[in-house]
Amino acid sequence: MSNILDTEIQYLPGVGPKRAELLGKELSIFTFRDLVYTFPFRYIDRSRVYSISEIEPTSAYVQIRGKVINKAMVGSGRGKRLIISVRDSTGSVELIFFKGIKWVNEKIKPNAEYIIFGRPSDFNGTINFVHPEMETVTEAANTMYSSMIGVYSSNEKLKSSGIGIKTFTKFIYTFLSKYADVIPETLPEYILLQNHLCTLNIALKNIHFPKDIRALEEAQKRLKFEELFYLQLSLLKNKNVRENNTVGNVFHVVGDYFNKCYHNIPYELTGAQKRVIKEIRRDMKSGRQMNRLLQGDVGSGKTLVAILSAMIAADNGFQTCIMAPTEVLANQHYQGVFKFIKNTGIKVALLTGSVKTKQRRIIDEGLRDGSIHILFGTHAVIEDKVVFKNLGFVVIDEQHRFGVNQRAKLRLKANVVPHVLVMTATPIPRTLSMTVYGDLDVSILDELPPGRKPVQTIHTTDNQRKSMFAFLKKEIDQGRQVFIVYPLIKESETMDYKNLQEGYEEIIKQFPAPKYVTAVVHGQQKSEDKDYDMKLFAEGKANILVATSVIEVGVDVPNASVMVIESAERFGLSQLHQLRGRVGRGADKAYCILVTGYKMSKESRQRIELMCQTSDGFQIAEADMRMRGPGNIDGTQQSGLAIPLKIANLARDSQILLYSRDIAEKVLEADPFLSSPQNRILNIQLSILSDDTEDIDYSKIS
Ligand code: ADP
Ligand code: MG
Repeated sequence: MSNILDTEIQYLPGVGPKRAELLGKELSIFTFRDLVYTFPFRYIDRSRVYSISEIEPTSAYVQIRGKVINKAMVGSGRGKRLIISVRDSTGSVELIFFKGIKWVNEKIKPNAEYIIFGRPSDFNGTINFVHPEMETVTEAANTMYSSMIGVYSSNEKLKSSGIGIKTFTKFIYTFLSKYADVIPETLPEYILLQNHLCTLNIALKNIHFPKDIRALEEAQKRLKFEELFYLQLSLLKNKNVRENNTVGNVFHVVGDYFNKCYHNIPYELTGAQKRVIKEIRRDMKSGRQMNRLLQGDVGSGKTLVAILSAMIAADNGFQTCIMAPTEVLANQHYQGVFKFIKNTGIKVALLTGSVKTKQRRIIDEGLRDGSIHILFGTHAVIEDKVVFKNLGFVVIDEQHRFGVNQRAKLRLKANVVPHVLVMTATPIPRTLSMTVYGDLDVSILDELPPGRKPVQTIHTTDNQRKSMFAFLKKEIDQGRQVFIVYPLIKESETMDYKNLQEGYEEIIKQFPAPKYVTAVVHGQQKSEDKDYDMKLFAEGKANILVATSVIEVGVDVPNASVMVIESAERFGLSQLHQLRGRVGRGADKAYCILVTGYKMSKESRQRIELMCQTSDGFQIAEADMRMRGPGNIDGTQQSGLAIPLKIANLARDSQILLYSRDIAEKVLEADPFLSSPQNRILNIQLSILSDDTEDIDYSKIS
């Protein structure tokens, strides 16, 4: 049975091969489905005609009806423009055109009446419209399909090839009026009924051409539900399959390694740490393979959880591999482990890109014969050459730097898929973790070790640098250390380097040697130099560390009391939060100083204010998602959605998300394989969706 939606777009009346090619190239529209699932991003109520006296320059799009009373060409060359004056019974406005002047001038007739549609702006105290849409009253009546007009994103190229918003809207109208009734339903009837959802064809009609706001909302509810429901259904189904099919190594015992290590810990574990270790322990002996995400704010003590878990693996004769996103971090994990494994008999190794061949051979040997219990490293660890004797447990710190592919590779390194613990210090809102990590089990470290004082966060501007330096001197004179961080932007490493270099020169002028020692770490350094400077700071031999945000994750220097973030407006909220987490780890009071330009966008100002108000990572993550949208929050990729949602928005639609997840759970509980006749449609839909999402680059789920 063929589905009308699979028809190639060229066969829609009015489209044809040429326009089809454009639609494909510019908007990725190849089929009827692609077309009808291109939703308006905004609606304009065109049932209302404003009178000119009502318009304010701050109004959004408005529609007026008026008579052309004057046309004038002014200026010359590139500044040439056409000004059309229009009047209704309450006043007059000017319409301004810079482009296509000749065409507009010919088309618009003096004294004729037009429906004018656009966004008013204020120019020298008078209200005008720049490039509004103009139609005669008859034209308008013919092109309006409903009183709420959807606005689609149509780009310039399409426009200039004759597919403007109007033509585009017409395509959709043509499609729906011909075929809406033969579009196959995608949800089982019982789900529609139980959840009071309208059918797909009604939803599609009303999402494009709603007659009123209620019809629109009904359509949105149905389409958002469907989208989130299928997302959750597929995640939960995968999770079920994995749990039922993936045999895991059974770690029966908690033995000497664990107990000895436990006794080496100089402090009491937090309640949260104990709880999470229990959760991991339960997974490890369940016979099923563990896939767990450990979320914990910076400084919540995730590393220790990983190490104690590795001890359980060792007690059961298995090796562990702990991966970090950077060499600096891998090295730090490695250095940090010794105090815990003292006198335990545990052997560890560090494998990074810079390990020399000879040393490398020794490590390989130890991994192969099983004498190395824990391997620390970066991506290098999953190179094909690395062979373990008996890899049983894999820890991935700061998951967002690793893609699913890399995870998959690691799994190939053992006979039985190793238990996997993914750790992230980027708290992500629950709705998002449900979606991005929906097929993982989640543990949360929601308690900081005792004695941590919140970091006092201060906002300062470029021109107040003098007093900041004085403050830093005071801290350094008391024996404390200071981080100064510059932004790192991938597209322009050289520019950032320049920033950092200039900043560094200023710092050594302000903090002259030999009284002060300043270390510097950045992306353009050789890794020996980087390690050297990093070490200088970590060991307390440097007072100041000037760095790019490479130090963002994980670096632990308890004696550092001040984190200065330069150009703080260029950082995202979670990044700022991560950086701030680098201080406040010792007993003394710690400060985070956010330095920005004097002028800032509203959004930057909000971010900075929020940072000064709260230190709760989850609160920050929620706010981040609200402000920037889920596609932009750190924790997913910087740009674009990791999960290609067409209509639902994880920040705004959390209610529907939770609701749809609930329904998906119930459906799977009643029918785990979706094999009953009424659920057949669910299975079909899932397979269509998984074809669609095959190309998603999951490494971008960061
Ligand atoms: P993160 O979760 O950011 O990776 P770490 O594991 O680096 O945090 O821990 C931060 C610091 O807190 C480390 O110096 C660690 O030794 C210390 N720490 C961990 N657990 C506790 C605890 N229960 N009590 C006191 N200090 C702890
Ligand atoms: Mg860490």
